[in-house]
Formats: sequence, structure tokens, C-alpha cells
Amino acid sequence: MTTDPTGLHLETLAIGYGYDPAQHQGSAKPPLFLTSTFVYPSAQIAKDAHRVFFNGPVDGEPAGAYIYSRLNHPNLDMVEKRLAVLDGAEDCAAFSSGMAALSTTLMTLLRPGDSMVYSRPIYSGTDGLMNGHLTDYGIKPFGITDAVDRANVQAAVDLALKAGPLTVMMIESPANPTAATADISMISAIADEVGVKTGLRPLVVVDNTFLGPLLQSPLKHGADLTMTSLTKYCGGHSDLLAGSVSGDAALVRRLKQRRTTFGCHLDPHTSWLMLRSLETLSLRTERSCSNAAAIARFLADHPKVRAVTYLGFLPEGSPARAVYERQCKGAGSTFSFKIKGGEAEAFRMLDKVRLAKMAVSLGGAETLICHSATTTHYAVPQAQREEVGIDDGTIRISVGLEHIDDLIADLSQALEAV
Ligand code: PLP
Repeated sequence: MTTDPTGLHLETLAIGYGYDPAQHQGSAKPPLFLTSTFVYPSAQIAKDAHRVFFNGPVDGEPAGAYIYSRLNHPNLDMVEKRLAVLDGAEDCAAFSSGMAALSTTLMTLLRPGDSMVYSRPIYSGTDGLMNGHLTDYGIKPFGITDAVDRANVQAAVDLALKAGPLTVMMIESPANPTAATADISMISAIADEVGVKTGLRPLVVVDNTFLGPLLQSPLKHGADLTMTSLTKYCGGHSDLLAGSVSGDAALVRRLKQRRTTFGCHLDPHTSWLMLRSLETLSLRTERSCSNAAAIARFLADHPKVRAVTYLGFLPEGSPARAVYERQCKGAGSTFSFKIKGGEAEAFRMLDKVRLAKMAVSLGGAETLICHSATTTHYAVPQAQREEVGIDDGTIRISVGLEHIDDLIADLSQALEAV
């Protein structure tokens, strides 16, 4: 996989980057700093710490002293350094959940009267944030139905430009739950064109949750910010909530300041857990991706299944395939499939599954499976769901790390119930 300027591979950086035992009495693993506040060595150091936090460092000045854990704390620093290097970014801000990361980002970048565009389908929480909350603040969101097709993106952009200054292009790729892709470099090029035409270049924000930093690097394809729900693959054990946004240092500083006001930083214990989880991210990714490829093939050949929307199956020669090959280093392990029939048939299968756990979320060690229309996309109106390929027979699966034969045996017996 890709190397960073240190010359090390991402898999290596995921293990120790951002932590120096020499600064912590030789402790091989990071200590956990359970404190809400920090004692200043002097009044001048206290003043400098606040100046650096709020105004930014001057001429390569080092980071200031710690102040208060809602602003910064050592475990947060460590996890942000590691995530920034994995994302190929100058800096990263970590949050108490993926939604905290998204809400803080959009509420920092947008002003009343602004417009934005977003790829569809998109995680229902993000949809709710844009269409159910940001609209209350006078923001006007416009959906893009095919984010691989230039004309389609341009049409949404034109509508947005008519409604107000276009400030943000919010892209989720691959998308939840259909794994629809968006062409990040094409969308970034359109952002540049808008900038030339209007004098205001919209910022391209990519939700990279479905693949994570080892399988896709949105910043390398022209995105300004890359966001990840760390709750999923990075956390990897379905036992924590966290989110991150990485990008250029000045932009990330704005997010950190807003995060301080909103109070949605990542706490010390979860930051510590995240550092530990990142150490096994590459191994977990390898195993879950190979399991997912085998399950996708099994489902595609199964007589009770009518479609499998797995990235690895994108038709050769199609525009989406070209984007996938250019942008992604793997197909990931969350995808959806459609049972022959509708809700009743899907429910019959789900109620028979024994090994896989019927639950929302994804990216854990265990396989998770759920009915999209009535769970993760419950709040999305039926017509809108169907427009983006989520019908009543759609089931999402997040393939975990179990033995592949056990998983296939489980799905096989459950499909017999359909
Ligand atoms: N983005 C995507 C693509 C998601 O699937 C989710 C959660 O499922 C989120 C964002 C929100 O993350 P969190 O649950 O950590 O707030």
C-alpha cells in the first residue's frame, strides 16, 4: 500500500505513529490521561497555550501546553497524529462520533443562505442532518443522483448555484448501503471550475467510512477534507463511537475550535482504545475483504438472490468501474444484496440467521446484517429510497472476521427459509 513522507507503509504507521515511549517514562504503550484539566507551569505558558490554540502557531512554533480536555489532551493528540498520517493530511480532528464530526464540519463551513450538493444515496443520519436540521438554518441542500456522471453532478451544482453561494460538496463514497461510488477527482475539478466562475470555491468533503484510510485516500484525489466514522472499521470491535476529519491544518484548526464550543471532542479513554484498534486495522481489513469477496460470490450464485451490489462486481468498462479502480485499493466488506421477493422474504431470511448478528452498524469483528429499508434507512421516504436502489428486498451485510465456511453455512441455511 501507499507510503507516506517518512518512507513507511500505512500498515506500519497504523501501529506506532504519534506515540513516543521516550516522552512517557519508556511506557511501551500510551498511558491513559484521565484528567479534565492541566496545571500550567507559569502564567506566561498559560497565555501562550491559549494563543497557539486559538490563533495557531507562529513560524513553526511547537504546540502549546495542554489546557482543558475539551480543547485538547494527550490521548487526543496521539490519535489525531496517527489518523492524519493515515489520511495523508496535515492535521486531523477527532470527535465523539461520526455524526459529531459531520455536524461540526458542516456547521463550521456553511452559513445561512448557502447552498450545498451531496451524493445520493447517503447515510440516513447525514441526510437527516442536511435536510432536517441545516435547512432550519437556511442552508439549501441539492442531491446528486449519479456522482460518477459529470453532467449529473453539474446539473445539481447549477441548481445549487441558483439557490445561493455553493459552499460545500458532500460526497459519500462508497455509499451506504449500496456501495455506489462517486468520482472524487471529477467532483473536485468541478469545485475548481465553480471557484473560477464565482470567486468562491466550494470545499469537497468526503465521507470515507465504508473503506477507511487504508483502502481509499480521498485527499489524494482532490478532496479538501476526509471524514470517517471511526465507530466502524477503525474502531473495529463494535464497542465504541468516534469520528474524524482530516485535511489542511488551517481548515482543521477551524473545526477544532468549533468542536471546543460544541463539546464533542473524543474523550481520553476512547482515544486510547482507538490507538489500540488502529494497530490491527490492516490485518482486519485483509481478512474482512477476503471473506466479503467469497460471500459476494456465494450470494451472486444463489437462486434466492436477485442482485449483489458489491464493488468488485462493477461491470468491466463501466464508468463506475474506472472510478473504483482509480480511487480504491480494495472493495471493502460492507455491501448489499437483494432477496428474490420483498420485505416478507427478507425478514424470513434475517430471522433465520444464527452466526451473523442482526444489527445496524458495520466494520466490527463480527458479521452484522440488517434490512435497510426498515432500519438504517427507515426515515428515508420510500420513493427516495427506491430511486437510489434500496427496495424492500435489500439486505446490508458487513462481513466480519469469522471463518468463511461458518459464515457461508449460516447464510446458506438462512436463505433456505426464503
Ligand atoms: N457515515 C456513514 C457512511 C455511516 O455509515 C455512519 C454510521 O452508520 C456515519 C457516518 C455516522 O457515524 P456514527 O454512527 O459514528 O456517528
